[in-house]
Amino acid sequence: MQLGKWDIWVTDKEDMKREFKPIFHRYGYLESVAGGKSIGSHFTREVLKDPHHLLFERAKASELSGEDAFLSAKKGDTTAMAVINEAIEHLACGIVNAASLLNPEVIILGGGVLNSSEYILPRIREIVDRYLPSLVEMKTSQLEKLIKVAGLGKQKSMAIKNLLKNLKNKNERLSLNYLKRKNDEEVIGELTSHKGIGVKTASCVLLFAFDRNVCPVDTHVHRILNRIGMVKTSNPEKTFNEIKSHIPEGAAHSFHTNLLRLGREYCTPTNPKCYECPLERVCA
Ligand code: SF4
Repeated sequence: MQLGKWDIWVTDKEDMKREFKPIFHRYGYLESVAGGKSIGSHFTREVLKDPHHLLFERAKASELSGEDAFLSAKKGDTTAMAVINEAIEHLACGIVNAASLLNPEVIILGGGVLNSSEYILPRIREIVDRYLPSLVEMKTSQLEKLIKVAGLGKQKSMAIKNLLKNLKNKNERLSLNYLKRKNDEEVIGELTSHKGIGVKTASCVLLFAFDRNVCPVDTHVHRILNRIGMVKTSNPEKTFNEIKSHIPEGAAHSFHTNLLRLGREYCTPTNPKCYECPLERVCA
């Protein structure tokens, strides 16, 4: 995710009611409360309230810097720690908002403030983990590498991540168990409402995960059933709807897997081996 102008985020609704003066001309709210110069400016104002503060005289002479605030905070200065913690809360709030909208794979933070990353990153992480709607543990690209052997790795990895995110947001649990109470049509309707999940994938869940008597129809099953003459349909989804009520109880699993094997060994997309196919006698 690259957000060149994310300093415009407003991260405190109370501040919207007050007069706003950007820290630099044309700079936005977030930069003015969480940027290095704004931290230094805030730190200076707080130090000037305490004549016993170690940096009081320096603050009287000129504005302290953000680096002064970080160095003091690392030494345990409570004034500096309070200033920096407030800036961190604004920064983390902006990150949560941006990440919720853009669902990025990676967030890269830069700028002078990040010179003290070891101080601020753990706190930002803590806040982001608490408020981000879905903490996605594995990057899409990592998942893609793991599943690419099955083909269409990019589309599948995006669909899987999207489904997991939706499940987490909806049920707080990464589980499909709640679907087991629903009938086949309801399960298909629910699963296909998620981006990237079609009827074939949903029917695979029904057959292989829920042990239902449902035969998934991919392009191979669709091709074979049309060649045999069991259906006359124009796409896999129509074939699925045509055959679903005609499969004898308990036969869907072997019907599906045997059709796949037939498609691989005999009824290939091109040049089918009809002369040695075990179904030749009954095939249309
Ligand atoms: S005979 Fe076998 S290989 Fe040929 S079209 Fe029919 S099912 Fe396919």
